[in-house]
Amino acid sequence: MLDDLRNMLGAGAVDDSPEGLASHTHDWYPGALLRDRMGTPVPGPSVVVRPRDTGEVAAVLEWAQVTSTPVVPFGGGSSVVRGIEPDGAVVIDLERLNSISEVDEKSGLVTAGAGVTGPALRDHLAESGYLLGHEPQSVDISTVGGWVATRACGQLSAKYGGIEDLVRGLEAVLPGGRIVRTKTAPRRSTGPDLAGLLIGSEGALGVVTEVTLRVFPLPTERADLCLRFEHMTEGVQGCRVLARSDLGPTMVRLYDAEDAALFLRHHPDEPMGPLLLCSFDGDDSDLRRERAAELIDGTSGNDDLVAHWWEHRNDAVEEFRKVMAGEGLLGPHGIVDTIEVAGTWTVLRDLYHSVKEGLSEAAGLVGCHVSHVYPDGACLYFTMGSMCKSDAEAEEVDRKWWEITMRRTLDAGGTISHHHGVGRVRAGWIEEELGEWFEVLRLIKKAIDPK
Ligand SMILES: Cc1cc2nc3c(=O)[nH]c(=O)nc-3n(C[C@H](O)[C@H](O)[C@H](O)COP(=O)(O)OP(=O)(O)OC[C@H]3O[C@@H](n4cnc5c(N)ncnc54)[C@H](O)[C@@H]3O)c2cc1C
Repeated sequence: MLDDLRNMLGAGAVDDSPEGLASHTHDWYPGALLRDRMGTPVPGPSVVVRPRDTGEVAAVLEWAQVTSTPVVPFGGGSSVVRGIEPDGAVVIDLERLNSISEVDEKSGLVTAGAGVTGPALRDHLAESGYLLGHEPQSVDISTVGGWVATRACGQLSAKYGGIEDLVRGLEAVLPGGRIVRTKTAPRRSTGPDLAGLLIGSEGALGVVTEVTLRVFPLPTERADLCLRFEHMTEGVQGCRVLARSDLGPTMVRLYDAEDAALFLRHHPDEPMGPLLLCSFDGDDSDLRRERAAELIDGTSGNDDLVAHWWEHRNDAVEEFRKVMAGEGLLGPHGIVDTIEVAGTWTVLRDLYHSVKEGLSEAAGLVGCHVSHVYPDGACLYFTMGSMCKSDAEAEEVDRKWWEITMRRTLDAGGTISHHHGVGRVRAGWIEEELGEWFEVLRLIKKAIDPK
């Protein structure tokens, strides 16, 4: 195998060093991080390859099909749902597919290789006065290809949408090595959205190699609004009113009392309780902020907390890493996990209460925030933490959290993932989630990837 790959790609692109394999063994799924902590890591890849271009990706996939070798694409490795657990497979690390085009200012588009990282794209766009608007908390540790493959959604989705709203064209290599490209177009009516098959396919239907994305001028001004509520239900109502208005917020987040306590832990003088943070940018942002404050039935809060959120919006990456390394507040056997689900406004209240109640019986601490809003519904993002007596207990606790959240979400009429994807951790519930479409997906997989 190694000789085949070296002949194909050159020795420098084929890595079977212990460090190379260890750094591609798993993603950020807490269960996998726990296994590292326990000294029994999940089984890693047999080899890591780093192709230089789409042609080399195609060569690897052709070889993989001929030799029946499983392959796993790897972006930043920041998935949190067991998206990466190669277990003897060949990992295709896309880091060398890192070119970025000039911004097409006339159409507001940029084309980036799958391996382009969040910071590289942000800096490149900022030089010409643009931004992508896709800002997941993990932006510093994830890639363009990974965002597309997981159907990711950034924290500014109220204005910019999810990654699926930003993709205007893509290139991918299908199993067996066939290269497919979609024309870049603002919209089309040329049959089903075939590129859409790759968006959210999590590496199962091909390797995304290049993506053309919409970009936006960097906003010049921002107006922040913080409101407080006595009960979460009133805050949810406020989010609904805002999402259904024409005020165009950039960011909307509503924390329940427990999540607000976490957010406010560095602000001991702030009153506790449900907290809504939102921002408006661009033209008339002050005016739109004022109108939102009038429209939503809440009490004025401290707008500086919104600025604090902007400054610290990606701190969760380091905090999560610390807890899972046994160095955080939850002690040596601490466990933290996050599970995001979604529902229409009609079911959201029951969904929130049902999942929260179930998780509260199984976790030391459960907080929830509404992290993404739409005219027709929202995402509920649950964060659970427990101090356990052993890592084995932590594993069991995490398994229970998933079971409770998936079961109760399905029963309440919600959808089991808003943006983290399926991976292996949600695999047991996806058939029930998709219903009849599960069989269609299975047939598509079989047709595209017969082996
Ligand atoms: C602390 C933290 C915060 C996070 N916050 C957010 C958030 O705000 N929003 C959000 O949406 N997600 C978030 N995530 C999850 C994760 O960052 C996203 O799923 C991200 O899109 C994954 O990108 P990646 O490049 O790291 O992909 P990887 O983790 O490398 O891969 C993810 C999956 O996609 C496949 N894949 C990767 N690249 C390709 C490719 N080029 N072609 C085909 N398949 C590919 C992999 O095989 C795997 O199945 C967070 C994760 C962490 C750890």
